Amino acid sequence: MNRRNVLKLIASAAALDSARQMRAQDQAARAVRGLPVPKIRDIQVIATEPGGVRLTVVKILTDQDGLYGYGCGTFTQRADLVNAAVERYLKPFLVGKRADRIEDTWQACYNSSYWRNGPVLNNAISGVDQALWDIKGRQAGMPVYELAGGKCREAAACYGHASGPDIPRCIESARRYMSQGFRHVRVQMGVPGMASYGSGGAAAPHVPALHDDPVFDSAAQFRISLKLLEEARKQLGDEVELLHDMHERYTPNQAVQLVKAVEPLRPFFMEDPLSPEDIAYFRQIRQNCATPIAMGELFNSPHEWTPLITERLIDYIRIHVSQAGGFTPCRKIAAMAEIFGVRTAWHGPGDVSPIGHMANVTLDVVCYNFGVQEYSPFNERLQEVFHGCPVLKDGYLYPNDAPGWGIEVDEKAAAKYPYGFGERGDRAKYNGGWGVIRRPDGTVIKQ
Ligand SMILES: [Mg+2]
Repeated sequence: MNRRNVLKLIASAAALDSARQMRAQDQAARAVRGLPVPKIRDIQVIATEPGGVRLTVVKILTDQDGLYGYGCGTFTQRADLVNAAVERYLKPFLVGKRADRIEDTWQACYNSSYWRNGPVLNNAISGVDQALWDIKGRQAGMPVYELAGGKCREAAACYGHASGPDIPRCIESARRYMSQGFRHVRVQMGVPGMASYGSGGAAAPHVPALHDDPVFDSAAQFRISLKLLEEARKQLGDEVELLHDMHERYTPNQAVQLVKAVEPLRPFFMEDPLSPEDIAYFRQIRQNCATPIAMGELFNSPHEWTPLITERLIDYIRIHVSQAGGFTPCRKIAAMAEIFGVRTAWHGPGDVSPIGHMANVTLDVVCYNFGVQEYSPFNERLQEVFHGCPVLKDGYLYPNDAPGWGIEVDEKAAAKYPYGFGERGDRAKYNGGWGVIRRPDGTVIKQ
């Protein structure tokens, strides 16, 4: 082949290439219906506490009029640090960049700190990630659950938190949830006089201790929790699904014993039996009983959840979605869990903003392996700030059908409830953080 023919061939290949590129650009333009690519113009943090818990909501504004989005980055015990991570690191990193490439943005933010998988940075990334999903939904005119493939169930079955200062009042609280249509109820009772999780004991006796700080003794909690679950099953009948939170407060061996002891009571699941430092003990729990296990409220890193899922050591993964980095990584976690027969039970108490609750319920309705959703009510002040919270009916939570997360934030109302609003005691003293709890001998416990 002579030189002229070679040049001709190169020219025709180049023409083909450029025609192919033009066709691809045409298709891409049609896919977004000719809308120009939004660019990130500004990133703001809305710091508010309408429900008595410090919330972090990240707002991303684009260069297109009226196109913005909200994301939840709530890590209430260290909220100021998340807010600084957004304002001082992610904002300068992202302003001027495209708002339409969510996966790419997530990976760029995740890797830009070099050290990663910590709660502060993951929550900051979650705020950005969820705000970008909100923008994508608003741009498309669809709720995020449609962007994620559409619903595979109508709504998410929830569990309510029944608690009381003694067993009869806790069971009464459970009955109230059941009468509202809940088929899943978590029963929780503290040890009178101790700083237990779920305690409501006002007139509590003095617990002897070698110090003046709040006291907790896991052996005492073990006895009360077992008795409570026995009575709840006996008095509430076989049909209700009972759940119980162990809150990572037991020694590994106590955890194995308690989870094994409740097996005949058929709980729906025992929540967080071990602290994240002790997760290797899940193998011992599995070897001893078939009680369903939920785990992950404190998880931040794939190194924590991956072995538990792939070795089938738990039944429910219950990460705080923003702690794992937001909607984008949690979709992947759910997909991985589905393959291994593990279901989801995303963390959903008051230290998740309504935006975060929408991310939860969106995952619930689009992921096949949904298990149950933790529910906490949205009080009047929360609804004054967040318009369009998910709606509970007969124990099911329904996502909003409006585009994006379907929630508008009234920023003037949010400003009425600054951090510290309504806080008392240690939380007021420690900038929203928690105080210390000790065993009677003075040893600090894991909370
Ligand atoms: Mg919990």
